[in-house]
Amino acid sequence: MTNDEMIQNINDWQECDVTHEMTCGNDSSHKPLYPVEEDGKIIMKCHDCDWSQEHIPKCVLNFDKEKANKFIEGLGINVIREPKGKEKNLF
Ligand SMILES: [Zn+2]
Repeated sequence: MTNDEMIQNINDWQECDVTHEMTCGNDSSHKPLYPVEEDGKIIMKCHDCDWSQEHIPKCVLNFDKEKANKFIEGLGINVIREPKGKEKNLF
């Protein structure tokens, strides 16, 4: 997998309605972390403070939006929509 593909997967994970996004280790109310490439390596950074982390779980790096959508459809449920910011995370 290329770094660009990893960044795409991470962004898909961070934006997906039913995953729990990676958040800042200093303050989880900060905006979700975003990926950047540094010295050829992908790391996560916080928009709101100087938090950064190198560890990115495999399920995030390998996240496949199409598969996730198919899985959610296969459950035969509609994701319950609540007011923005209060969506329920299923996993
Ligand atoms: Zn932060």
